[in-house]
Amino acid sequence: MIIVLKHGIKESEKREVYNFLASKGYRIREIAGEEETVLGAVGIVQIDMREVELLPGVERVIPITKPYKLASREFKKEDTVISVGNVKIGGLRISVIAGPCAVESREQILETAHIVRESGAVMLRGGAYKPRTSPYSFQGLGERGLQYMKEAGESEGMPTVSEIVSPEHAEMMQQYIDVFQIGARNMQNYELLKKVGSLCKPVILKRGLAATIEDWLMAAEYLLAHGADNVILCERGIRTFETYTRNTLDISAIPVVKKLSHLPIIVDPSHGTGIREKVPPMSLAAISAGADGLLLEVHPDPEGALSDGPQSLYPDQFEKLMRDIEALSPVLGKEIARLPEKESTPADYPYSLRDVEKTRSIEVAFQGESGAYSEMALHRHFQNGDARGLPCSRFEDVFLEVLKGTVDYGIIPIENSLAGSIHENYDLLLQYPDIKIVGEHQIRIVHNLIAKPDAEMKDIRKVYSHPQGLAQCAKFLDSHPEWKRIPFYDTAGSVAFIAKEGDKHCAAIASIEAARVYKMKVLKEGIETNPRNYTRFFILAREEHPAVKNPNKASLVFSVADKPGSLFLFLKLLAEKNLNMKKLESRPIPGTPWQYMFYVDVEIPENRDLFFQAVENMKKEAGTFRILGMYRV
Ligand code: PEP
Ligand code: MN
Repeated sequence: MIIVLKHGIKESEKREVYNFLASKGYRIREIAGEEETVLGAVGIVQIDMREVELLPGVERVIPITKPYKLASREFKKEDTVISVGNVKIGGLRISVIAGPCAVESREQILETAHIVRESGAVMLRGGAYKPRTSPYSFQGLGERGLQYMKEAGESEGMPTVSEIVSPEHAEMMQQYIDVFQIGARNMQNYELLKKVGSLCKPVILKRGLAATIEDWLMAAEYLLAHGADNVILCERGIRTFETYTRNTLDISAIPVVKKLSHLPIIVDPSHGTGIREKVPPMSLAAISAGADGLLLEVHPDPEGALSDGPQSLYPDQFEKLMRDIEALSPVLGKEIARLPEKESTPADYPYSLRDVEKTRSIEVAFQGESGAYSEMALHRHFQNGDARGLPCSRFEDVFLEVLKGTVDYGIIPIENSLAGSIHENYDLLLQYPDIKIVGEHQIRIVHNLIAKPDAEMKDIRKVYSHPQGLAQCAKFLDSHPEWKRIPFYDTAGSVAFIAKEGDKHCAAIASIEAARVYKMKVLKEGIETNPRNYTRFFILAREEHPAVKNPNKASLVFSVADKPGSLFLFLKLLAEKNLNMKKLESRPIPGTPWQYMFYVDVEIPENRDLFFQAVENMKKEAGTFRILGMYRV
C-alpha cells in the first residue's frame, strides 16, 4: 500500500506509522516527492487500510493493485534513475552498454573496452560465466575473466557488468564488477534473485525466454524486496514460433513496462535477433519506442569469437550506430549519456563542459520564467540534477549575470530551425567582449496546449504564448478559429500567467516542463505545425574560463572593407585550409548604417593547426576580427 503523509507531519507521528507497519512485518520505503512524501509498505499479513488511515499524520492510503508492488508505477510515479559511478541510466538519457559476449582473454577485453569507449559506450559488458546451451561450448574464464574485466573497466574509466549464474559466486563477483546481470535463463531462479537483491548492488534483469511481462516484473520484485534499489530491466527477445531470428525482440514490451513500472528498461537486440545486421535497426527501433538504453555485443574479431560471434557488431558498425543514435536522440527529447574524457580533470579543462560539470553544483542564467525551453536545454546540456537555473527577464541580463560572476554560465538561444537567428543575441555577443561561447546545445521544441487542471478543450476561449509559439502552432490554432490568440513575452511566462489568473477559459502554449512547474494540465501534446523544430543554444562563460580542450567548432565575427571582393577574399582563407563553414550571417553594425558584421561558424578539424593558420590570415584580412568561442559539439 501507499501511505501519503500529511504536509508537516511530526517526526514522532512518522515514527508511530513506521512502528505500526513494522510490527505487522511490513517493509517500508520512504519516497520524498516534489509534492508529497509517501511511504510504500509491502508485507504478507493483511492489514485493514482504515487502521493505517486513522494514524496521526496520515493523509490517505492507496492500495497497490498489482501483484508486483515495489516495481510498480503505483508505488513510485517518477522514473527511477540509476547511478553506477558517474553513469546514469533512466530519465532523459540514452545509455549504451557494450562489449563482447564473453571475456576471452586479457587482450581481447582491453581492446574491446577501448573500442566501445571511444565510440561512446558508458559501461562495459562481458560474461565470465556463460550459461551455454551445450556443455561442450566455451563456458567462460570465471574469476580470471572478472579480473580482466575489472582491469579493462578501470583502464577506460567505465563501470562494468557481468552475468552471475550462481548464488555462490555473489561475494566473489562483487569485488570485481559494478553491476550484476541476471541472465534470461535465470530470471526465475529465485534463490539467485534473493541473494543478488541482498547485496544492494545495481542489477540488470533480463527477461526470461518464455516470461510474460508480469513474470518479469515479479522477478524484479524479488530483487527489490530483498534489498536492491537499482534494478534495470532488459528486454532481450522471447521464444515464439518464428525461427528466422534467434528470438523475437518484443519492442512493444518497452512502452508497456514504462506504463507499469518506474524502473528503467534497456534493450539487448544482439540476443533479441542473433543476427548482426539486424542489430542496428532494432537498436534504433528500441530507442524510438522509449528504451533508456541498449546492451550490445561488440567484438574486435567476431569471426574468431568464442561465443555469439554472428550477432556481435564489428567496431565500425558500432561506431556508425552510435552516431545514428546521437542524431535520433534530440528527436525523442533525449540525450545520449556520455562518460567524461579519460584524462580530464576540472583543472585541466575537458572535452566538453558537461563532463566535469556533472559533478559539482552549478548555476546557469537563462532568459525567461521557470520552465522555459532555455531551462530545459541547460538541464539537458549539463545532465546534472544539481544544475540550477537563474531566470532573467532579458537576454542582456543573462550576459550581465555571467559577467558579474553571480552564475557559472549563461545559456542563450541563437537560432531556431524554423524562425531563423535570434539577432539580439548576435548583437549582445559583439557588445560583451568579456564573454565567450564555451558550448553549444540543440533541443527539439515540442509545444503543448496547457490549461488549468480542471479545464477541458471545450472550455478554451483564449490562448497565450510568445508570438513564435503562436506562429509555430498556427495550423492547430486555425482548427479553433473561435480562440483568441494573445501574444505574451514568454512561453513559460504565459503558463505562469494563466496559472495565476485561474481562469479555465485560458490556455497557454509552452513546454511540458512549464506545465509541470506551474502544476497545470497538458490538454494536447505536440501541437507545433512542423515537428522538425529545433533550437540551438550557446553556453556562455566569462572570458577567463579555461579553454575547452579538443574544440571541434568555432564561432567568429568580423568586418571587411567596403570594396569589391572583400568578403570573397576573406572566406577564401577558410577554403584554402579546407575548413568547413557551417553558418554565415550578416548583421548591421550598430550606429554605422549600411555597414555589416559577419558571423561565421566553422568546424575545427582534427589538425587544429589548419584552423589557427586560417585565423592568423583572417586577422590580417579583416577590419575587426574576434573569436567568439571555441567549443565542442
Ligand atoms: C548474455 O548477455 O551474454 C546472455 C547470455 O544473455 P541472455 O541471458 O539474454 O541470453
Ligand atoms: Mn551473448
